[in-house]
Amino acid sequence: MVEAVHGLAETIAAARRIVAFTGAGISTESGIPDFRSPSGIWSRLDPNDFTISNYLHNPEHRRRIWQMRVEHAGRRFSPNAAHRALVELERLGILDCVVTQNIDGLHQDAGSTVVLELHGSNRLVRCLDCRDEMPAGEALDRVRAGEDDPHCRECGGLLKSTTVSFGEAMPFDVLSEAYERAGRCDLCLVVGSSLVVYPAADVPIAAHRGGARLAIVNAEPTGLDGLADVVVAGRAGEVLPSAVRAALDLLAAG
Ligand code: NAD
Ligand code: ZN
Repeated sequence: MVEAVHGLAETIAAARRIVAFTGAGISTESGIPDFRSPSGIWSRLDPNDFTISNYLHNPEHRRRIWQMRVEHAGRRFSPNAAHRALVELERLGILDCVVTQNIDGLHQDAGSTVVLELHGSNRLVRCLDCRDEMPAGEALDRVRAGEDDPHCRECGGLLKSTTVSFGEAMPFDVLSEAYERAGRCDLCLVVGSSLVVYPAADVPIAAHRGGARLAIVNAEPTGLDGLADVVVAGRAGEVLPSAVRAALDLLAAG
């Protein structure tokens, strides 16, 4: 493990343009469960319920979603040491951007300034017809006030969190920018992703095809370990800060 972290530190210190690619595993140490771990969200909920078609056609499903969101809204989560380690790389001038599958906004809370959210954000709600957007808190206040399935005040359309449901297209402009930046980086640093969700996982593949090195920090084996130059099995909140600190030492030593 120590050796693997050292290898990761050397890889980071040698890089000039890093694209970090993160998944639910970077936020578990902040208290947010991931999807596919044994205690993950899919051990309790059925992914087949969370389709765009169900959302569009089943008012009962929408009411349940809004209710669940109101119940969870009281919980506040904070970024952890892994989110902060990526901010440190940005301050060093060697991190191009964070591409994330997460919807929790914790990279931005930590201080990362260029964050591409492939699966949208649970902090934003949008009208599916006129595309009018509002902070999620505004819609949740309306649910608390008694609207169990709030609709758009401009046009009457359905309101939905900007998070991408199953069967819904990913935001095209965000995905293209992610591919483009991945194609230009010299290191793609994957943190906390099982790398089995496509097309998101095509981002590290695009980096690899463009000649970048690929480093993976994840608790379990991932779908792309075979392509990686460095794989560190461990907790993101421990591995990443140690590796970044060691990389700083290497850079300072010239
Ligand atoms: P995933 O659940 O498929 O994989 C997460 C991976 O992280 C697992 O392989 C797990 O072993 C690993 N992991 C868990 N805790 C870790 C830790 N402390 N350190 C290192 N690794 C750890 O998640 P994914 O790859 O992001 O893909 C699936 C989807 O999950 C995405 O669509 C995303 O939108 C969604 N999601 C997001 C959140 C969030 O925003 N925080 C939470 C749950 C799911
Ligand atoms: Zn509208």
